[in-house]
Amino acid sequence: MKKVAVIHGDGIGPEVIGATLEVLKKVAPGKFEFESVAMGGNAIDKYGVPLPDESLKICQNADATLLGAVGGPKWDNQPPELRPEKGLLGIRSGLKVFANIRPAKIFAPLASACPLRKDIAEKGIDFIIVRELTGGIYFGKHEAFTTPEGERAARDVMEYTEHEIRRIAHVAFRMAMKRRKIVTSIDKANILTVSRLWREVVEDVAKEYPEVKLNHLYVDNASMQLIRIPSEFDVIVTENTFGDILSDEASQIVGSIGMIPSASLGDDNRGLYEPIHGSAPDIAGQDKANPIGTILAGAMMLRYSFDMMKEADAIENAVDDVLKAGLRTPDIFTEGTKLITGSGMRDEIISRL
Ligand code: NAD
Repeated sequence: MKKVAVIHGDGIGPEVIGATLEVLKKVAPGKFEFESVAMGGNAIDKYGVPLPDESLKICQNADATLLGAVGGPKWDNQPPELRPEKGLLGIRSGLKVFANIRPAKIFAPLASACPLRKDIAEKGIDFIIVRELTGGIYFGKHEAFTTPEGERAARDVMEYTEHEIRRIAHVAFRMAMKRRKIVTSIDKANILTVSRLWREVVEDVAKEYPEVKLNHLYVDNASMQLIRIPSEFDVIVTENTFGDILSDEASQIVGSIGMIPSASLGDDNRGLYEPIHGSAPDIAGQDKANPIGTILAGAMMLRYSFDMMKEADAIENAVDDVLKAGLRTPDIFTEGTKLITGSGMRDEIISRL
């Protein structure tokens, strides 16, 4: 029996997680023990903090953690320490997951949803972004202060140690070995000292993977190349902030933000699995949320944490079948396809398992 900690979260979180738990129960009956834990805005309301110690403890003791999404306008004016997003940073560092894996793959039936020119999309899009998740500016010192002249000012510190770069680089090269054997490391080494260290360490790690071709791109150039020649990317490795921004760009290249899962991994098999989207307060409670991103995150959990490849394939194939049948939630709806609700999407996927 695998123990899975489940964070339903806020907004559409409970809707997409609910759908995913149903899918997991259908694909592997009796294999999981799910334990719900409070995090985010709902935890602030109930316990006064975004990530209660007890919640983190349950996740740390579980075999994997499944997360919907947290946050919403209700908590936007909270002080920084008491914002739902603080819970996200807390759980990532508490679970010591330092590598965020985001696949960007175009589902053939959704090719028309790709906003890029047809000749570009037709070359195929299938890359993975490996984003460093527990370092960099998001975890550096944040400070608001007043200058000696009395002007308001602020600073955020970007910092990486060699071992943080080395371990994320290894994740990327190992992934590349199972794929097309190309790693693109993205930095801003023409300006940032941190990026120069990043580049040196990545080049050093590359020596251990002689079969893998390593390229470097500056982040501004990378953001252009991702939409100009996406087919040429295989595995992208980059630091926390650049990865945050580029992976949202990638999500639009392959269709809706509602379609993309992510896995956050540490040194062992225990991971944190979630869709890339937020709590979407604009559509919460309306049965419009696309559950596919979270359902595919569930499939990634089976693959990376539990070695249940057959079941993971079954989920991915069921999603593909539903899309081939022309069924679409509002976010991926185009003319000529059939509009269904979020719960309708859940049922259609389950019926194909
Ligand atoms: P968002 O991802 O919640 O929504 C952006 C847009 O995408 C919205 O129009 C939304 O309706 C749509 N969308 C998102 N997921 C969808 C889905 N599954 N199906 C259909 N449409 C979907 O981003 P946002 O609006 O910037 O943030 C809303 C809240 O979520 C904020 O409080 C933010 O801090 C939080 N947030 C949380 C996470 C997380 O929990 N990991 C990530 C990002 C944002």
